[in-house]
Amino acid sequence: MKKIFKFLWKLRRSLKSIFQDKSDKIPNISVNIERNIIGKSINWSDIMCYKIWEWNIKILYVSWIHWNEVWTIKLAYNLINWLYENIIKLDNYCIYIMPCLNVDWYDLAIKNPDYFNWWKIWRFNSNNVDLNRNFDTKSFKEKSIRSFWKEYSESVEVFCWKSWNSEAETKILTNFIIKNNISVLFMFHNAWNDVMWNNTELSKKLSKTYSDNTWFKLLTEEYWNTLKQTWTAKEWCDENDITYLEIEWSSRYWSDWKVQKNAIEETLFML
Ligand SMILES: [Zn+2]
Repeated sequence: MKKIFKFLWKLRRSLKSIFQDKSDKIPNISVNIERNIIGKSINWSDIMCYKIWEWNIKILYVSWIHWNEVWTIKLAYNLINWLYENIIKLDNYCIYIMPCLNVDWYDLAIKNPDYFNWWKIWRFNSNNVDLNRNFDTKSFKEKSIRSFWKEYSESVEVFCWKSWNSEAETKILTNFIIKNNISVLFMFHNAWNDVMWNNTELSKKLSKTYSDNTWFKLLTEEYWNTLKQTWTAKEWCDENDITYLEIEWSSRYWSDWKVQKNAIEETLFML
């Protein structure tokens, strides 16, 4: 009985995923938008960064750090187009967007949506490293954990490699942030339905606004620390005094763009 229930639950989730993927296509991006190759991944693929306007308030949005979250690029591409259409309102800003950080095997990821097992497919980069456990932080060790399932009640060990920033992708990201004086970093993940802040006051305010404008749960820094997920982008931002928000929306296969657009707009104009 339990097995049948589980099968039906997975079937329902898979059908929903197929529907979401087919009804929310990866948008095209205008060729007029400034884009630059900012480095090469482990397997020598281009890591691209898009840029909107050039002024004082420096913000970076990053998506697809975990391989099984490839469809976070749908949100990033919608965001790029929307920012470009609204460029006139953004004359105080300098906004960068990196849609594909974990870029190796892009074609493979897109061609294999794995609707039936979406929470199990591959998470790491081509060196088998969890990129969000590879940041240059004081307490770095070779292994950490990742938590998942409801209330993050389950956890497994993940490999972080022998030294911090060992991976091209994390090195490129942190170098870029420092070189360009980024003061606010938004990192997009899915699909655990929450928003998490780091240790700056601004991050608390932005996270609350983001959560209020979506149905994503607000997780405090204190709660996040109890999960013991270490050497993350959040921890690196804590140590470097950068405001950080981690956003997990509720589906692997669609962008939740209509909802997230409001949250992004509200938080952007708080800066
Ligand atoms: Zn993730």
